[in-house]
Amino acid sequence: MAYEMVHEKIVGRFAPSPSGPLHFGSLACALASYLDVKVRQGQWLVRMEDLDPPREIKGASQHILNQLEAHGLHWDGEVLYQSHRLEAYAAAVSFLKDNQLAYHCQCNRKRVAELDGVYDNRCRNLGLDGQKNATRLALREQLGNISFDDQVMGHVKQNVHLTVGDFIIQRRDELFSYQLAVTIDDAFQKVTRVMRGSDLLDSTPRQIYLQQCFGYHQPSYAHVPIAVTSDGQKLSKQNLAAGLPAGNESSNLCSALNWLQQSPPKSLSSLSATEIIAWATQNWDQSKLPAHLTAPAPKGF
Ligand code: GLU
Repeated sequence: MAYEMVHEKIVGRFAPSPSGPLHFGSLACALASYLDVKVRQGQWLVRMEDLDPPREIKGASQHILNQLEAHGLHWDGEVLYQSHRLEAYAAAVSFLKDNQLAYHCQCNRKRVAELDGVYDNRCRNLGLDGQKNATRLALREQLGNISFDDQVMGHVKQNVHLTVGDFIIQRRDELFSYQLAVTIDDAFQKVTRVMRGSDLLDSTPRQIYLQQCFGYHQPSYAHVPIAVTSDGQKLSKQNLAAGLPAGNESSNLCSALNWLQQSPPKSLSSLSATEIIAWATQNWDQSKLPAHLTAPAPKGF
């Protein structure tokens, strides 16, 4: 497939959370986002989303980076660690509060769960302070309808008011939310293309909403299926999906290319990871990506 040359600098990223080693699904995502920018001579960045210390597994960041390199997925520039970016997130929260776009909230998770996860904005006008309280974004009435054209899944529409309501940007334990940090960092790193797993499709409207609050440029989005087990569960670090077998990089890559429906020839598996990546970059065809939210992982993963 021919990709037209564009003059905008293309920047993509892979943003793993260090809660365990890469599994098949995360390798497939990393590979897809790498190829998506490399066919357009873009830059591929890696950002370590190490914002949640209790969920972090010691040594996982380095392990993930080693796995990426072993699979020939070399990133451009330095790895950005979200744990080094707390000042930027704090400044963003202050900006929102100063502009009356955020407020403190004392509701606990149980209460919000009883509301089926859609917050009723109860604390919005209580004028609570920050002591032991979370911070929520105050969604503006007229702006909650978000739509965008996903490059794989097609047109997506979500009313953020009806789906989540005012959402958390900083937790009561002071940890910044994924939605806030990812928005700030995609802008900070000048990311123009986000290709990631479909489990984040639902989060994208919140991120677009936040981009609008800060006046940021909106990257283009492409969500690829997530790999699931035979009983339909997402392969994830939480359900202890097997880490990728070391020493099997070529075969892991071929399985991932096959799973991404790129039709790798059988002979490819005898090549090195670097050679496979070179083949894949030349032959990448985004239009072959299935527009499904999930797809079963191949046997053995
Ligand atoms: N850190 C997130 C995860 O591992 C991905 C974030 C993103 O790609 O936006 O699920």
